Amino acid sequence: MLLPGDGIGPEIIKEAVGSLNAIGEKFGHSFDYEEALIGGIAIDETGNPLPEETIGKIKQSDAVLLGAVGGPKWDTTDPDKPRPEQGLLDLRREMAVFANVRPVKAYKQLLNASTLKEEVIKDVDLVIIRELTGGIYFGEKNRKEAEALDTCSYSTEEVDRVIKFAIDVASKRRKKITSVDKANVLETSRLWRERAQNLLSGNELEYEDMLVDNCAMQLIRNPAQFDVVVTENMFGDILSDEAAMLTGSIGMLSSGSFGDSKPALFEPIHGSAPDIAGKDMANPIATISSCAMMLRHSFSLEEEAKRIESAIEAVLEKGYRTLDIMENGKEQVGTKQIGGLIRDEILAN
Ligand code: NAD
Repeated sequence: MLLPGDGIGPEIIKEAVGSLNAIGEKFGHSFDYEEALIGGIAIDETGNPLPEETIGKIKQSDAVLLGAVGGPKWDTTDPDKPRPEQGLLDLRREMAVFANVRPVKAYKQLLNASTLKEEVIKDVDLVIIRELTGGIYFGEKNRKEAEALDTCSYSTEEVDRVIKFAIDVASKRRKKITSVDKANVLETSRLWRERAQNLLSGNELEYEDMLVDNCAMQLIRNPAQFDVVVTENMFGDILSDEAAMLTGSIGMLSSGSFGDSKPALFEPIHGSAPDIAGKDMANPIATISSCAMMLRHSFSLEEEAKRIESAIEAVLEKGYRTLDIMENGKEQVGTKQIGGLIRDEILAN
């Protein structure tokens, strides 16, 4: 299921589909694509950022690939007007995707693209797992003249399912989990820590608890120490953006959001980049590597996922760069050209 959305969304989704088709050709699969509306374009055509028809199609699909939503055309402060971003929040809620997974890996070819020193980021290979449908973003809210309230609440069930999800991810990686909370202050964090200890003590995985303020510092000081970081909604929102910058460009990072049942949702971490939309300048790598995640997790096609990842690395190794990751001595290419180069690498022997 494809949801191209707005801005650069359609351009990057097109290149991602090109890579998927190349995988199909190489490995003898055929992927069926359905396309539907979300975001600003959905508002223009139906008045609703997440039309019923889109929800219906999602429920029939095995996986959902989203481009991005939003843009200045639909920006408004009028609470009665529909907003593209509401379509995205409604989508995550409709799909009940409680675990948001954001892998952060330093491509060796792009070590110079980060604002941090090469020696700090060169061994970074971590995953942040953020609880996505609970906590303060979904609690009771209230606003009075001179007072406002946001409530943070978690049930053991909500905590357990995301920690179990993290255990599953960590057991397929370097087997280390850092559970992040603020247990020295917050009651929800004490519940979180209690459940983490309950599920993780005595487990074969290496496990530590870390306070969120320390984690924010450690991610910059020594990010290579982390394997899987699991945390609640708001802490995960902030830490995952911080961690994203370790690799240098927002155009490189993929994400997947998972619930108890299919389909899962895959998307690049960036937005619709209206400043470069339609100019053949967008970096499609985040979306193409989201396809690798999709193949691995929704279709159990590990070899095919690795093929996409090594094709991306091969193209970077050969010195091709989109503008956002451009450096001296490299060859600058556009969205279509880098998409084509990655396709060629997938198909190569
Ligand atoms: P943005 O991520 O769209 O862009 C930030 C900067 O990064 C821009 O300079 C842009 O050109 C650049 N950039 C982003 N993706 C790129 C790519 N693939 N290749 C090269 N450069 C890239 O964030 P923004 O400008 O704050 O937001 C623009 C719109 O996107 C807003 O309407 C916002 O609400 C929306 N948004 C959507 C999502 C989503 O759909 N998941 C996420 C964030 C923002």
